[in-house]
Amino acid sequence: MIIQNALLVELHPPRIRKGLDVRIEGTEIREIGKNLKIAGEQVIDASGKILMPGLVCSHHHYYSALSRGIMAEIGPTPDFISTLRELWWKLDRALELEDVRISSEIASLEAIKAGCTTVIDHHASPSCIEGSLDAVREGYRNAGLRGASCYEVSERNGTEGEEAGIEENRRMAELLDEEKAQGSWDGLYETMIGGHAPFTISNHALERLGDLVEGSGRGFHVHVAEDRYDVSYSHGVHGKDILVRLDEHGLMNENTIIAHGLYLGSEDIRIMNDRDSFLVSNTRSNMNNSVGYNVHLPELKNWALGTDGIGADMLEELKFAYFKHRDAGGSWFPPAFMEALWKGNIIAERIFGKSFGKIEEGYQADLVILDYPAPTLLAEENLAGHLAFGMNSQAVETVLIAGKPVYEQRKFKESKSALYKEAEAKASEIWKRMDGLKVQ
Ligand SMILES: [Zn+2]
Repeated sequence: MIIQNALLVELHPPRIRKGLDVRIEGTEIREIGKNLKIAGEQVIDASGKILMPGLVCSHHHYYSALSRGIMAEIGPTPDFISTLRELWWKLDRALELEDVRISSEIASLEAIKAGCTTVIDHHASPSCIEGSLDAVREGYRNAGLRGASCYEVSERNGTEGEEAGIEENRRMAELLDEEKAQGSWDGLYETMIGGHAPFTISNHALERLGDLVEGSGRGFHVHVAEDRYDVSYSHGVHGKDILVRLDEHGLMNENTIIAHGLYLGSEDIRIMNDRDSFLVSNTRSNMNNSVGYNVHLPELKNWALGTDGIGADMLEELKFAYFKHRDAGGSWFPPAFMEALWKGNIIAERIFGKSFGKIEEGYQADLVILDYPAPTLLAEENLAGHLAFGMNSQAVETVLIAGKPVYEQRKFKESKSALYKEAEAKASEIWKRMDGLKVQ
């Protein structure tokens, strides 16, 4: 395939090249140049359009896709824990396997429409743990999206639930390793080892998760210090900083994702940086849960952007990340946030062992064509300004993942209206089931 005559835009370091053709072979970018010779290949004319590496959402919760506009009996939520108990822990408990598959496919399709080519998911469905990661994977696969999920292990579902969560992570890691050994792996779906949050994971489970992280060669994906409660709990019950506790169990490595981290201490931050782990910041979610703002971002070596389940529109998330930073008195300008968004590609590289985020020979052909007629000069020096103040996901026209068009001229290959109808019906059933639940 050849994408012709595009304006090539890369986010980090910002680079813009005009009027170039890009040849794709298999899953990779093979050649870049002017007027490339066509050898009987499919041609996409991108004249007047931007061609950009696909965006990465580095922390998502697909299981919440059917909670949009939720109408269920939600009790008072004066603080973070009440919000978890009244909303999220009822929602995930109400999910059945079919709901998991549908919400995964809906969330994947919406991510693609917003220009995402990789999404890192974090899954929970305590009433149907075994097989849930297969259901998540099916949603990714049906949409043609790249990504990784994990099961969020938690003691809140009792020892049995905690154990089942560990096993689900192990099962998926072993299944993927087997597929890789047999040469049948699709190259698009991976897994991490998941935990909900340190305040809901026992030391025994942390030990087992540490063994699994080491044995499987994967990273740990967990919420940390989203609210002060997690920090106080760790100090009060375990007598140590949160990441000291995780590090003692071998859970901090270069493949590890720490979501949120608003209230990390200086020792936590030292561990993050020493272990080369990633923090993923989710500004809209933090605002929605009234948990505060992460003032530690400037101290971190690696950080990227996620949505924590509020869709996967990363151009919108970037705007919130930037405006909230300014609102909180921060001194950074849009380039810092454009770099953080781009750094999701480093997470993808660590997970998939391939090259992402640039339009270069040998890089994965995860690409987006955008129709963005800039009303002012669009240059490397002000690209981040265009992202913060102008460009949005409505510009996304065509999306390629691993060299395959999964969304063309704002259309998926088949109509998704039946899936959306099914989703609407399933959502109403989930909301009804939530009403009968009491979560401690
Ligand atoms: Zn989250």
